[in-house]
Amino acid sequence: MSNSDQIQPVLFDKLDIRGVLVGLEASYQQVLELHDYPPLLQRVLGEMMAAVSLLSATLKFEGRLILQAAGEGAVQLLMAECNHQQDLRAIARYEGDIPQDLAFNELLVNGRLAITIEPAQGRRYQGVVPLEGETLARCIENYFSQSEQLPTQVHLVADGQRAAGFLLQVMPAAGTAEQDWSHISQLGATLKSEELLTLDNETLLYRLFHEEECRLFEPRTLRFHCDCSRERCGNALQFMTREELLAIVEEEGSVGVSCQFCNEHHSFDETDILSMFSDSANVPRSDLLH
Ligand SMILES: [Zn+2]
Repeated sequence: MSNSDQIQPVLFDKLDIRGVLVGLEASYQQVLELHDYPPLLQRVLGEMMAAVSLLSATLKFEGRLILQAAGEGAVQLLMAECNHQQDLRAIARYEGDIPQDLAFNELLVNGRLAITIEPAQGRRYQGVVPLEGETLARCIENYFSQSEQLPTQVHLVADGQRAAGFLLQVMPAAGTAEQDWSHISQLGATLKSEELLTLDNETLLYRLFHEEECRLFEPRTLRFHCDCSRERCGNALQFMTREELLAIVEEEGSVGVSCQFCNEHHSFDETDILSMFSDSANVPRSDLLH
């Protein structure tokens, strides 16, 4: 497959076109082991993880990149995150049975795809597009053409064991000739999912682009890692009132919160609850994920 748990940039030297290859195996399996997802969601979540890894490689930033697909219907949320250290985590929220044959945009009715950059310092940026493509890869291509005006081709595949992705893109601010992009993207379009899952990066590039001058850069290692903290899990509790929380403590001894990404459990006693509400600077977060 594409090299396991690695992300590897590709550059077409004379063309101002770049690429990224990603392969996930252990990191993907660790995410699946934490939850009992239906097979279709296992595959879609693998594609989400591959996609967020590809996107993180196209951006120079310190902080976290969040890819979110939200909608109504059986699946409410698919979310994958990657930070600048290539720590990955992902989650799906769904209800009931998930039919096996739904397209991506049928899983999330009236869906939206959001790409959020949360820099370690500075302002958060979010771009949102409707989920119109039949696959996640098409939706991300739409995102780049609508939000960034960057011609982009995306391939994603996952089989419940391994996930892989390949992105081709015109370099931002480059005056890439249309015919160069057309030529490279036509070659890229011949890539089959099976090849993306089974070939190593060098073989894959040779098969697609052996007549082009294209270079692979040093790979970077990806891993599953959740950076949740007791403090951030505690923030989720502030959607309840002090009295509600104290009532739970009285009844059960403590209030428990499990991180939805890694299942880490944190419990809060009466002293914790009181200090949580005495700190007026502690503003509740706008989302329940932490
Ligand atoms: Zn966690």
